[in-house]
Formats: sequence, structure tokens, C-alpha cells
Amino acid sequence: MENYQELAAKQKSFFRSGKTKDVQFRIQTLTKLKELIISNEQEILDALKADLNKPEVEAKRAEISLVLSEIDFMAENLISWSAPKKTDTPTTHEGAESFILSEPYGSALIIAPWNYPFQLAVNPLAGAIAAGNCAVLKPSELTPRTSGLLAKLINDNFPEEYLRVVEGEVETSTALLKEKFDYIFFTGSTPVGKIVAKAAAEHLTPVTLELGGKSPAIVHDDADLDQAAARIAGGKFMNAGQTCVAPDYILVKREVKNQLIAKLKEAITKTYGENVAGDEYPHVVSERHFDRLHAFLESGNAVAGGKSDKSRLFIEPTILDNVSWDDPVMQDEIFGPILPVLEYDDLQQAIDVITERPKPLALYLFSENENIQNEVLHNLSFGGGAINDTISHMTSHYLPFGGVGDSGMGAYHGKASFDTFTHSKSILKRSFK
Ligand code: NAD
Repeated sequence: MENYQELAAKQKSFFRSGKTKDVQFRIQTLTKLKELIISNEQEILDALKADLNKPEVEAKRAEISLVLSEIDFMAENLISWSAPKKTDTPTTHEGAESFILSEPYGSALIIAPWNYPFQLAVNPLAGAIAAGNCAVLKPSELTPRTSGLLAKLINDNFPEEYLRVVEGEVETSTALLKEKFDYIFFTGSTPVGKIVAKAAAEHLTPVTLELGGKSPAIVHDDADLDQAAARIAGGKFMNAGQTCVAPDYILVKREVKNQLIAKLKEAITKTYGENVAGDEYPHVVSERHFDRLHAFLESGNAVAGGKSDKSRLFIEPTILDNVSWDDPVMQDEIFGPILPVLEYDDLQQAIDVITERPKPLALYLFSENENIQNEVLHNLSFGGGAINDTISHMTSHYLPFGGVGDSGMGAYHGKASFDTFTHSKSILKRSFK
């Protein structure tokens, strides 16, 4: 197992030099990162194509543009975010003044997953830079072309004592987690999130855990079924269902279930044609994930899709009907292009089944009825979500993005990224006068 003591020590020493505390230095780094992304756009698209067969339009939108707009937003707001913030002082402390200083933690370890291997590595990295930290980034080994490209872009253009990409598998993560970093930002599965949290506890290192889970889409009987189906299919089958906030399953009011299924089939055909060509549709990341997903096709019965080809790691956009909560597909996060449709008779039933299970990362409700909206929003706990849409909440700079309970802790995006990598140092100042 490699030893990263020297790298961690170099970053600590660079951090102590105070260079990263200079806000102009951070803005320059963000600008340089942005320029590197723009000038290497084709290489990034090629890597994503090689790793996941990601179509260019999807990769540009969900991996590159998202990151560029986050970097712009951070650079534009950094001076104001990092300025000391005056606060009120209680009357019991008359004569004193109070303020909060935004202090970078030091050196941050970022561990990234494979499903959006560029965006989910660079977005937290930008947050760490904006807040004035040094950072070590460990991309996923399951997307080796993107991992290699990230290493080239960062390691050839920044000194390792400031920013460093370390490539590798589980052993590399394990070795990195032995070092005392000042912050750990992990994106990945709930079981590995627990391993990371335990390792962080050894050093009392604060962590953000961006995890997964089974995110439901509830479709009530007043929903516009054409739009609901199009928006659910769009969010589910993008990246072949390998999206942390993809709707994992549908809970639909029984009376409209068959209609919704018909509309979902139409939505799939409209996007992918009668035969999903394969070239404009991502593949499953690995044989292990293919086998896991393939076994789910035994649950219920496929009313759309269902075909697969292991040699191409290909699984059609699939809708499963007649699925029960005991079926394997309902036990764990699916994380692939398989969408079970379950029904409910009254909303309370839907709320109860979701409440009994781990808190999801996202939840989507399709209903224009405000009473129904309030019922769902105020009675269910989940990371975040959307009403009458899927996924879109995670593309707003103004909405902190993160999970709760089994789906994670902490949040990022926009100002929340800056806050995540920043310690708020509270100061009360008195005088001798
Ligand atoms: P994963 O947990 O298997 O791996 C994530 C990272 O952790 C990788 O870099 C991997 O090398 C590393 N890792 C794996 N095992 C480890 C171990 N034992 N010790 C230390 N490090 C280890 O997750 P994944 O398969 O890459 O990603 C899929 C999961 O991530 C899904 O559950 C998905 O919902 C979740 N996810 C969440 C978000 C979010 O923003 N909340 C985003 C994307 C993916």
C-alpha cells in the first residue's frame, strides 16, 4: 500500500505559507481551471465516450457546462463570500463587536465516483479551491480514461503541494484515508460512505458524504401524465439511469397507472426511437454492474424494454410492472435504466412506505394540488427534490445539494460549496477602553 504522508505534509506546509488564503490567488486558480476545461473539452468528451459511451450532448450539458457555470458563479461571488461578516452582539456584551471570519480548513481529500466522473470530481474541487484549501482528488478507477485525464490536467498544471490527483482503486483510497486531512468530501455509495466516515472519525476530520439511495417519483391522479412521463423518463434514462438523483421507482395512484405506463413508453420511443441505437445511449459502467442490473430484470415483468447485451454492457430503457416491495429490484438503489412502477390507493399509503425505508437522496412529486404538495413536503424526509420535474434541483447554484440520513450529510453547489470547505470562525472583540 502506498504511503501519502509526504504528499499530505507538503500540502500542509503549502497551506501554512498562506498563499491559498489570498482571494485573488483563488480566483486566478478557478480561472485557470476553467481555461483548462475549455481548451481540453474534446479530450474530456472523448474520455467520457470511452468510459461510459456518454453522448456528446449529454456530456457537454451534465459534465462540462455544469462545472463551468459553477466555477463562474464562485469566482464572481468569492470576494463577497470570503469577506468577514459582522453580526449583532447581545446587549449583555455591551461595547463589544462580533464578526465571523471565513477560514479554509487546510488540505481537503476529495473521493469521487464514476457516474459523472468529470463533474463529480471537479465541482467539489472548485469548492475546495474557492474556499482557499489545498486538495487531493481521488477519481474513480471504474472510469480510467477520465481519471487519467483529470490527473494530467491537474498534475501538469498545478504544483502537487497545492492540488494533486491521485489515481487508484480501493487500496489507494484506504491509504489516503489513513492520513490526517483537514476535510473529506466523499461522493459514492452508502456502504463506502460508512467506511469513509469511520476513517474520518479516527482523525476527527469533518466530512461531507454525498451518497445514494432509492429516490421515489410520486405521480398523483391530477398530474399531467404526458409531462410527468416525459420528465420522469428524461431524468431516469439519462446516463442509462446511472445518476444519483435519478427517480429509482415510481409510486403512482392506481387509477392512472396504466395510462402513465403508456405515456412512459411513448416518452422513451420519442427520445431513443423504436430501437435504442446504442451509440447515443451510455453503457453500464462494468460487467459487475451489468450482472447486478441484469438480475433485476427478473423482478415483475418488463412492459417496455427489457433487452440487454452483455458484450456491449447495454441494457434497454426498461419499465417493470407488477413489482412487489419484496422483489430484489426494490431492495437497493437500482442505479441503471430499470424503472419499476408501483401503485398506491391513497397518498398516506405512499407516504408510509417511503417513511419506513432509508431517507432518499431525492424525491419527486407530480401534482398541481397544493394540499398534496404540502402533505408530501412536510411529512417526508429526503435530501432535496422537485415538484413536477426530476433532477433539475441539482443544477441550481442557489439550492444546496446533499442527502440526509442514509443518503448523506452536508451539501454543496454554489455558496454551499464555499461554506462546505470553510470553517466559520466566530470572534467577539472587546476593548480595554
Ligand atoms: P463507490 O462507493 O463504490 O465508490 C466511490 C469512490 O470510493 C471511488 O473513488 C472508489 O474508488 C472509492 N471506494 C470504493 N470502495 C472503497 C473503500 N472500501 N474504501 C475507500 N474508498 C472506496 O460508489 P460508485 O459506485 O463510484 O458510485 C455509485 C454510488 O454513488 C451510488 O450509490 C450513487 O447514488 C452514489 N452517488 C451519489 C452522488 C451524490 O451526489 N449524492 C453522486 C453520484 C453518485
